[in-house]
Amino acid sequence: MKVLCAWCVRDGRPAYLREKSPLDDPSETHGLCGDHFTSLSASVGQVVTSRVWLISRVNDFSWGLTRWAQRMMGRFCSLLVTDIER
Ligand SMILES: [Zn+2]
Repeated sequence: MKVLCAWCVRDGRPAYLREKSPLDDPSETHGLCGDHFTSLSASVGQVVTSRVWLISRVNDFSWGLTRWAQRMMGRFCSLLVTDIER
């Protein structure tokens, strides 16, 4: 079987990578060449990194929001308590 880089086929570049068993089978199968594997794993890594960054920012934000809400609730409750005590 012939192994062709699926991305090179899409880009119209020479896509032949290697032969794969069974060698007497003339059909084609698809893989990724070194260049495209590198660029794909780089873009996947970028997506993962930005997603981790976003999640950590969201965690910071929700943590800050929780702290703020607790402080506001505490203030509100203490106001309520002093009103009741009066
Ligand atoms: Zn390729």
